Formats: sequence, C-alpha cells, structure tokens
Amino acid sequence: MITYFDGKFVDDAEAVISVRSRALNYGLGCFGGIRGYLAADGRQINLFRVGDHITRLMHSARVLHMRLPGAHAEICGLVGELLRRNEVHHDVYVRPLVLNGSTKLAPVMREEDSVLAIYCLPLQRYMEKDAIDVCVSSWRRATDNAIPARTKATGLYLNSALARREAHDNGYDEAIFLTEYGKVSEGSAEHVFIVRDGVLYTPPSTEDNLDGITRRSLIALATEDLGLKVVERVIGRTELYVADELFLCGTGAQIQPVRSVDRRTIGDGGIGTVTARLTEHFNNVVRGRVEARRGWLTPVWE
Ligand code: PMP
Repeated sequence: MITYFDGKFVDDAEAVISVRSRALNYGLGCFGGIRGYLAADGRQINLFRVGDHITRLMHSARVLHMRLPGAHAEICGLVGELLRRNEVHHDVYVRPLVLNGSTKLAPVMREEDSVLAIYCLPLQRYMEKDAIDVCVSSWRRATDNAIPARTKATGLYLNSALARREAHDNGYDEAIFLTEYGKVSEGSAEHVFIVRDGVLYTPPSTEDNLDGITRRSLIALATEDLGLKVVERVIGRTELYVADELFLCGTGAQIQPVRSVDRRTIGDGGIGTVTARLTEHFNNVVRGRVEARRGWLTPVWE
C-alpha cells in the first residue's frame, strides 16, 4: 500500500517513525478515522463527511499543541489522493495520524514537531456479530481534564484498550465506560444510544466522550429525516439495563446493536425497530442513495 508520510507518498515500509519519538514514548499524537464507501456503480468511492473529520483532527491538534502541514482543503485533498494512488475501489478506512516526531527526552509538546501520516486499509465490518454483549467497564473514562476526551488523542486509547481487554477476558464483546462521576460516557470507540418508548437518548458530548461524527449524523438523520425524537442528556447506568433498544455507533462500528448489558437482555434480544429503521436509512445515506444527504459525501474518482 501507498502511505502519505511527512510530505510524501511512499511505500508503507518507508513510513516509519523512530522508537525514540515522543509519539511512541509518551503517546503524543492524535488521529482520525474516515470511511469511504463503494457506491452502487461498483467503482466510485464516497468519503463520508471527510471535511468534518479533518476539522475534528485540527481541533484535536489544537488542543494538543500540534499542527497539520496545510489548510483544511489541502488535508482533505491528500485523503482523496491517497485513495487514488492506491487505486481503491472497495470499502475503505482512512487513518490520518499526527505524531510528535521529536526524539528528545521528556514529554514536551511543540507544534513544529508534528508529522502527518495518512494510511488506508480495506474495511468491511468492525465487529463480527449482528448484536453484541457488552459490560459496564470497571475502568472509568478518562476525564476531559486529564486526557482530553473530546479529542482523538493517541494516548487516550490506553484507556479504551484496558476496557476492551477486560470486557473480552470476561466474555463480553465490548465495554461501556462510565464517567468519573458514574454516568454513561461511551464505548471504547463508539457512542451509546438507548431507545425508550420510541425516543432516542444519548449522553451529551460533555460526558467525557469524543466529539463524534456518526453520533452527530444519526441525531440529524433521526430527527430531520425520520421524524424521531432524540434527547441528549445524562444517562445513568441502570437506564442501560431497562432500555427497549441499545446500540453503539462510530465510524468503524457504524450502527452496532447490543443484545445485552451486564447479562441483562435488552428488549427481546433482537434488533429493535428504531435501530433497524435508522440503520437502513444510514446505509442508504452512506451508499449515496439519499439525494438530500449527498452533501455528506465526497467522491474520490472523477
Ligand atoms: N468514541 C471513541 C473513543 C472513538 O474512538 C470513536 C471512533 N472515532 C467514536 C466514539 C465514534 O466517533 P465517530 O463517529 O466520529 O467515528
């Protein structure tokens, strides 16, 4: 595969960073995750909300005293260029990554040490099962005042990895974090939605969760296109147990139904009607079948 690394498109093998780098030693970096979807013609790839992903990456960089090597439009252009250079005609995941390339000792953040890399990989499903079993993690979500939770800081994923490992060791597919204050935050790499009496609820983004693009998209699709009600409010742990429906969402996971939380079955253990409706609409949107939402898609090929 071809990867963009520090100003050049190179072979993957050449896109390397020193073991001495502050990125590796101290987790100084931030990243994004963007999906490109194969269109109905079997050739075109449409990037989903690439501009919003790059804006979020720039926000993460700002919080972490990092910088990107160009303006917003240029970085979006590099993503398209990467896919063209790799001749991508399949569903794809793109990972832009800003790393601290300094090899000096001590965790010091300096804008000028930023190195941008962008790589891509084929990606279909993120999780294998149609409906997953999740637990509430014993690990708390890192607070925004400790490791900025609204950013995609690389170091923050130690928190996610600990929760995922614990979940897997205990026979679950995924974990849901609570905040330091004991309220529902998010999954290891997904946001949480519950459905009760036909209404969708999701924690506000101030509950130490990522500024999520799928979350934002689903709120718009549910309220504006499907006439559903969505309430953003603090959610208590046991509200998860009595939800009629529960799903996780994210760029990787897309819409991932949950069938149990801490061994309490959600609804009848199947995929709920609201989740199914939203999933169908979301899939139509990302595949370019909803004219009114074409503005969220950026074609890669002429
Ligand atoms: N939370 C975390 C911690 C994540 O890593 C992700 C994946 N980017 C999400 C939520 C979902 O966010 P998005 O919809 O923007 O991909």
